[in-house]
Amino acid sequence: MNRVAGSRQKLKIGLKGKITVFLALLLAFVVVLLSMLVLAGIREDQQRRMEQSFSQLASSANLRVREEYLTGERVSPDEFMEHNGQSLAVDLGGQSGMAVTLYSADGVFAGTSLPVQPLTDVKEALAHTSKGQEAYITLGNQVLYLAPLYNADQFLGSVQFHGSLQEQEMFYRHIRSLFIGTGAAVLAVGLLLGYLYVWRQSFILGKLNQAAKDIGEGRYLDKPPVRRRDEIGELAEGIYDMSGSISSYVDELNEEKQKLLTAIKRLQELEQQQKQFIGNISHELKTPLTSILAYSDLLGMYSDDPVLLQNARTQISKEAERLYALIEKALQLSSMDIYDFETHAAHFQVKPLLEEGLSRLRIKAEKQRISLSANLKEDLVWADPDNLMHMVTNLLSNAIKYNRPGGWVRLSNRSETEATGERRVIIEVADSGIGVPEELRNRIFDPFFTVSDDRSRETGGTGLGLALVRSLAEKQHGTVNLVESGPKGSTFVISLPGEPIAIEPQEE
Ligand code: ADP
Repeated sequence: MNRVAGSRQKLKIGLKGKITVFLALLLAFVVVLLSMLVLAGIREDQQRRMEQSFSQLASSANLRVREEYLTGERVSPDEFMEHNGQSLAVDLGGQSGMAVTLYSADGVFAGTSLPVQPLTDVKEALAHTSKGQEAYITLGNQVLYLAPLYNADQFLGSVQFHGSLQEQEMFYRHIRSLFIGTGAAVLAVGLLLGYLYVWRQSFILGKLNQAAKDIGEGRYLDKPPVRRRDEIGELAEGIYDMSGSISSYVDELNEEKQKLLTAIKRLQELEQQQKQFIGNISHELKTPLTSILAYSDLLGMYSDDPVLLQNARTQISKEAERLYALIEKALQLSSMDIYDFETHAAHFQVKPLLEEGLSRLRIKAEKQRISLSANLKEDLVWADPDNLMHMVTNLLSNAIKYNRPGGWVRLSNRSETEATGERRVIIEVADSGIGVPEELRNRIFDPFFTVSDDRSRETGGTGLGLALVRSLAEKQHGTVNLVESGPKGSTFVISLPGEPIAIEPQEE
């Protein structure tokens, strides 16, 4: 991993360096090419100007010599040059402001405006002038220009001007050094600007790289890493969009994961509950069975004792009833977990059902000298009538069981509208009984939980009644709670939907 990162780093530096060097070389090439073209142009221009001025000088010298030749005695051109060469050369030198040397037609020195005869060998150049051509000889900073002199078609000799190239050369050198200086400055500035530009680009690429790393490590972007109106800007937008898609995809995955974890936890809880349920029920079944076995033994041993027989029969029947109640409730509880669909909710009047529940418990209440009262109203409820009857009778039965002699039990109902606008039907069972200690108020809804084992046994309790009531309430979008309890009694409250609820199909 490090190795890959390292090679990427190298690549980055390499790219930066390469682009900078490439830009510098390109710039240098352009500067050198430009200066070469300009300098060559200057040279050409200087040459052209020099040739123009020499040829003007040559034609005015030709005019002067010709005039002299024609106005003088009739002699041959060579004789003319021999006699007049020196004076003409001085004359022409004064006119042109340059050193002038004259040669006769056969190439012999005829005169010069210089103090001494120039020593330069000009034979080859004179061979050209004798053919009517011009010739140049360059000697360091000096240039010699030779041109033929004619009288009509008659070749009179040659004139030689001594020019100096020093001024031109100085101008040329000055321009060249200007080019070198400016070129170097342009190159340095170009290099710097190029480097800064490349550095800026690589800084932006670095930002994109960092954004990609952040996404890889799960830190998603809340804005594009760079904002530009070019291809890099488009790439940054693309990375930002990609980050958004990955983020929502990961969120979805996490949500699914969370659901799975919750389902697994629920399954584990169910498994645990099941194990506990089986353990508890085995224990609870054993107690009445042991009693029954013990009394049936006694029956065999003391069959002639009528008091004992009577007692044994009563106990056996009591324990058998307890066993029956226990098995019935256990079956109901366990079937509810498995057969969820067995609730058949309907929209019906709750008052008759509550009255019926009350009447079922009337005899039991009378036996225990408990007075039953009710405050019932006409109201529509959405529930399974059988299940609701189970819940109400269980709560009424408990209110009677855990009461005091001469106590009372009151059943009432009312309608409440919640903040969401949903109407709920509230059924209240209040008693003047022994109450439930504060810390156990929620635990009494756990299967097999009893506040006092002795009292439960005495009253035939199984610890399953309230667990069943809560299970039934939840299956119908309802709740059941102990809202008040103390030494003066308890109040249990059932809350159920007042209007029909669309039952969603259970997920497998
Ligand atoms: P049981 O079959 O033992 O009555 P329940 O599940 O119906 O089982 O009740 C659990 C425990 O809650 C009971 O053992 C009892 O101690 C307590 N309990 C239930 N109803 C009342 C009540 N109205 N007053 C006081 N205690 C109660």
